[in-house]
Amino acid sequence: QIPGEVVVRIASALQELATRDPLTGLHNRRFLDTALPREILRSERERKPLTVIMLDIDHFKKFNDTHGHQVGDEVLRQFASVLNVQSREMDIPCRYGGEEFAVILPTTEASKACLVAERIRAAIEKSTTVCSGKTLKVTCSLGLSEFQADDDVTRLIRRADDALYASKKAGRNNGH
Ligand code: GH3
Ligand code: MG
Ligand code: MG
Repeated sequence: QIPGEVVVRIASALQELATRDPLTGLHNRRFLDTALPREILRSERERKPLTVIMLDIDHFKKFNDTHGHQVGDEVLRQFASVLNVQSREMDIPCRYGGEEFAVILPTTEASKACLVAERIRAAIEKSTTVCSGKTLKVTCSLGLSEFQADDDVTRLIRRADDALYASKKAGRNNGH
Protein backbone atom coordinates (compact mmCIF):
# COMPACT_ATOMS: atom_id res chain seq x y z
CA GLN A 1 0.00 0.00 0.00
CA ILE A 2 1.49 3.38 -1.10
CA PRO A 3 0.48 6.34 1.07
CA GLY A 4 -1.76 8.89 -0.63
CA GLU A 5 0.65 11.81 -0.27
CA VAL A 6 3.40 9.78 -2.02
CA VAL A 7 1.05 9.06 -4.93
CA VAL A 8 0.26 12.77 -5.16
CA ARG A 9 3.97 13.66 -5.17
CA ILE A 10 4.77 11.05 -7.85
CA ALA A 11 1.85 12.28 -9.97
CA SER A 12 3.02 15.87 -9.77
CA ALA A 13 6.64 14.88 -10.59
CA LEU A 14 5.38 12.96 -13.65
CA GLN A 15 3.26 15.95 -14.68
CA GLU A 16 6.32 18.22 -14.42
CA LEU A 17 8.44 15.76 -16.48
CA ALA A 18 5.80 15.48 -19.17
CA THR A 19 5.21 19.21 -19.59
CA ARG A 20 8.78 20.61 -19.44
CA ASP A 21 11.37 20.70 -22.18
CA PRO A 22 14.56 19.21 -20.66
CA LEU A 23 16.96 21.28 -22.81
CA THR A 24 15.63 24.76 -22.03
CA GLY A 25 13.51 24.19 -18.92
CA LEU A 26 10.60 25.97 -20.64
CA HIS A 27 7.14 24.45 -20.84
CA ASN A 28 6.75 22.24 -23.88
CA ARG A 29 4.19 21.75 -26.64
CA ARG A 30 2.18 19.33 -24.51
CA PHE A 31 1.81 22.04 -21.86
CA LEU A 32 0.81 24.63 -24.46
CA ASP A 33 -1.85 22.30 -25.85
CA THR A 34 -3.65 22.25 -22.49
CA ALA A 35 -2.76 25.77 -21.31
CA LEU A 36 -3.95 27.60 -24.43
CA PRO A 37 -7.59 26.34 -24.44
CA ARG A 38 -7.73 27.02 -20.69
CA GLU A 39 -6.40 30.58 -21.09
CA ILE A 40 -8.83 31.21 -23.97
CA LEU A 41 -11.78 30.12 -21.83
CA ARG A 42 -10.56 32.36 -19.02
CA SER A 43 -10.13 35.38 -21.29
CA GLU A 44 -13.63 34.85 -22.74
CA ARG A 45 -15.12 34.58 -19.27
CA GLU A 46 -13.31 37.71 -18.10
CA ARG A 47 -13.94 39.51 -21.42
CA LYS A 48 -10.23 40.19 -21.83
CA PRO A 49 -8.06 39.89 -24.95
CA LEU A 50 -5.45 37.16 -25.49
CA THR A 51 -2.57 37.12 -27.95
CA VAL A 52 -0.18 34.39 -29.06
CA ILE A 53 3.34 35.10 -30.37
CA MET A 54 5.13 32.43 -32.42
CA LEU A 55 8.91 32.69 -32.81
CA ASP A 56 11.33 30.82 -35.05
CA ILE A 57 15.13 31.16 -35.06
CA ASP A 58 16.44 32.34 -38.43
CA HIS A 59 18.69 30.08 -40.53
CA PHE A 60 19.26 27.76 -37.60
CA LYS A 61 20.09 24.77 -39.78
CA LYS A 62 23.00 26.73 -41.21
CA PHE A 63 24.02 27.78 -37.69
CA ASN A 64 24.16 24.12 -36.58
CA ASP A 65 26.05 23.13 -39.71
CA THR A 66 28.60 25.89 -39.12
CA HIS A 67 29.07 25.72 -35.34
CA GLY A 68 27.86 22.23 -34.38
CA HIS A 69 24.73 20.89 -32.73
CA GLN A 70 26.12 21.38 -29.19
CA VAL A 71 26.62 25.11 -29.76
CA GLY A 72 23.13 25.16 -31.30
CA ASP A 73 21.78 23.65 -28.08
CA GLU A 74 23.50 26.39 -26.07
CA VAL A 75 21.84 29.01 -28.29
CA LEU A 76 18.43 27.39 -27.64
CA ARG A 77 19.08 27.64 -23.89
CA GLN A 78 20.12 31.26 -24.24
CA PHE A 79 17.04 31.97 -26.37
CA ALA A 80 14.81 30.49 -23.67
CA SER A 81 16.44 32.59 -20.99
CA VAL A 82 15.83 35.78 -23.01
CA LEU A 83 12.17 34.75 -23.42
CA ASN A 84 11.89 34.23 -19.66
CA VAL A 85 13.44 37.62 -18.89
CA GLN A 86 11.22 39.42 -21.42
CA SER A 87 7.99 37.71 -20.28
CA ARG A 88 5.77 39.14 -17.57
CA GLU A 89 4.56 36.95 -14.71
CA MET A 90 1.28 36.04 -16.42
CA ASP A 91 2.83 35.30 -19.83
CA ILE A 92 3.47 31.65 -20.74
CA PRO A 93 6.62 31.04 -22.81
CA CYS A 94 6.96 27.54 -24.32
CA ARG A 95 9.28 25.62 -26.61
CA TYR A 96 6.86 24.69 -29.37
CA GLY A 97 9.34 22.27 -30.95
CA GLY A 98 12.84 22.35 -32.48
CA GLU A 99 13.86 26.01 -32.88
CA GLU A 100 10.28 27.24 -32.59
CA PHE A 101 8.88 28.94 -29.51
CA ALA A 102 5.52 30.41 -28.50
CA VAL A 103 4.39 32.87 -25.86
CA ILE A 104 0.79 33.10 -24.66
CA LEU A 105 -0.05 36.63 -23.50
CA PRO A 106 -3.27 36.65 -21.49
CA THR A 107 -5.11 39.97 -21.07
CA THR A 108 -3.06 41.47 -23.92
CA GLU A 109 -4.38 42.88 -27.20
CA ALA A 110 -2.40 42.67 -30.45
CA SER A 111 -1.23 46.31 -30.34
CA LYS A 112 0.41 45.79 -26.92
CA ALA A 113 1.74 42.36 -27.92
CA CYS A 114 3.48 44.01 -30.89
CA LEU A 115 5.55 46.03 -28.43
CA VAL A 116 6.39 42.87 -26.48
CA ALA A 117 7.30 41.03 -29.70
CA GLU A 118 9.56 43.87 -30.80
CA ARG A 119 11.22 43.93 -27.38
CA ILE A 120 11.88 40.18 -27.62
CA ARG A 121 13.19 40.48 -31.19
CA ALA A 122 15.59 43.26 -30.17
CA ALA A 123 16.75 41.35 -27.06
CA ILE A 124 17.49 38.22 -29.12
CA GLU A 125 19.36 40.29 -31.69
CA LYS A 126 21.46 41.81 -28.91
CA SER A 127 22.13 38.63 -26.93
CA THR A 128 25.26 36.57 -27.57
CA THR A 129 26.48 33.05 -26.93
CA VAL A 130 30.22 32.83 -26.28
CA CYS A 131 31.76 29.56 -27.41
CA SER A 132 35.49 28.72 -27.63
CA GLY A 133 36.42 32.39 -27.83
CA LYS A 134 33.84 33.21 -30.47
CA THR A 135 30.87 35.50 -29.86
CA LEU A 136 27.87 34.08 -31.70
CA LYS A 137 24.50 35.62 -32.46
CA VAL A 138 21.19 34.56 -33.94
CA THR A 139 18.07 36.44 -34.91
CA CYS A 140 14.46 35.30 -34.92
CA SER A 141 11.28 35.99 -36.86
CA LEU A 142 7.94 36.44 -35.10
CA GLY A 143 4.25 36.23 -35.87
CA LEU A 144 1.41 37.14 -33.57
CA SER A 145 -2.34 36.81 -33.51
CA GLU A 146 -5.07 37.99 -31.14
CA PHE A 147 -7.97 35.69 -30.29
CA GLN A 148 -11.19 36.67 -32.12
CA ALA A 149 -14.78 36.04 -31.05
CA ASP A 150 -15.39 33.15 -33.47
CA ASP A 151 -11.89 31.65 -33.20
CA ASP A 152 -10.66 28.29 -32.02
CA VAL A 153 -7.15 27.25 -30.98
CA THR A 154 -6.29 25.89 -34.44
CA ARG A 155 -7.24 29.10 -36.24
CA LEU A 156 -5.48 31.28 -33.68
CA ILE A 157 -2.22 29.32 -34.06
CA ARG A 158 -2.57 29.17 -37.85
CA ARG A 159 -2.89 32.97 -38.10
CA ALA A 160 0.17 33.46 -35.88
CA ASP A 161 2.02 30.92 -38.06
CA ASP A 162 0.96 32.73 -41.26
CA ALA A 163 2.21 35.99 -39.74
CA LEU A 164 5.52 34.29 -38.87
CA TYR A 165 5.79 33.04 -42.45
CA ALA A 166 5.22 36.61 -43.67
CA SER A 167 8.14 37.73 -41.47
CA LYS A 168 10.38 35.04 -43.00
CA LYS A 169 9.34 36.18 -46.46
CA ALA A 170 9.99 39.80 -45.56
CA GLY A 171 13.64 39.00 -44.88
CA ARG A 172 13.65 37.56 -41.28
CA ASN A 173 14.58 39.30 -37.99
CA ASN A 174 11.16 41.04 -37.96
CA GLY A 175 7.59 40.46 -36.85
CA HIS A 176 4.08 40.58 -38.36
P1 GH3 B 1 14.40 29.58 -41.35
O1 GH3 B 1 15.11 30.89 -41.21
O2 GH3 B 1 13.57 29.53 -42.60
O3 GH3 B 1 13.60 29.22 -40.14
O4 GH3 B 1 15.54 28.47 -41.55
P2 GH3 B 1 15.99 27.35 -40.52
O5 GH3 B 1 17.28 26.81 -40.98
O6 GH3 B 1 15.96 27.89 -39.12
O7 GH3 B 1 14.80 26.31 -40.64
P3 GH3 B 1 14.81 24.74 -40.84
O8 GH3 B 1 13.43 24.30 -40.45
O9 GH3 B 1 15.32 24.39 -42.20
O10 GH3 B 1 15.85 24.18 -39.80
C1 GH3 B 1 15.60 24.11 -38.44
C2 GH3 B 1 16.87 23.66 -37.76
O11 GH3 B 1 16.72 23.64 -36.34
C3 GH3 B 1 17.27 22.26 -38.18
C4 GH3 B 1 17.58 21.56 -36.89
O12 GH3 B 1 18.84 20.95 -36.92
C5 GH3 B 1 17.59 22.66 -35.85
N1 GH3 B 1 17.14 22.16 -34.57
C6 GH3 B 1 15.89 21.77 -34.21
N2 GH3 B 1 15.89 21.31 -32.93
C7 GH3 B 1 17.16 21.44 -32.46
C8 GH3 B 1 17.80 21.14 -31.21
O13 GH3 B 1 17.19 20.66 -30.24
N3 GH3 B 1 19.13 21.43 -31.10
C9 GH3 B 1 19.84 21.96 -32.13
N4 GH3 B 1 21.13 22.22 -31.95
N5 GH3 B 1 19.27 22.24 -33.32
C10 GH3 B 1 17.96 21.98 -33.49
MG1 MG C 1 11.33 26.22 -37.89
MG1 MG D 1 14.12 28.52 -38.25
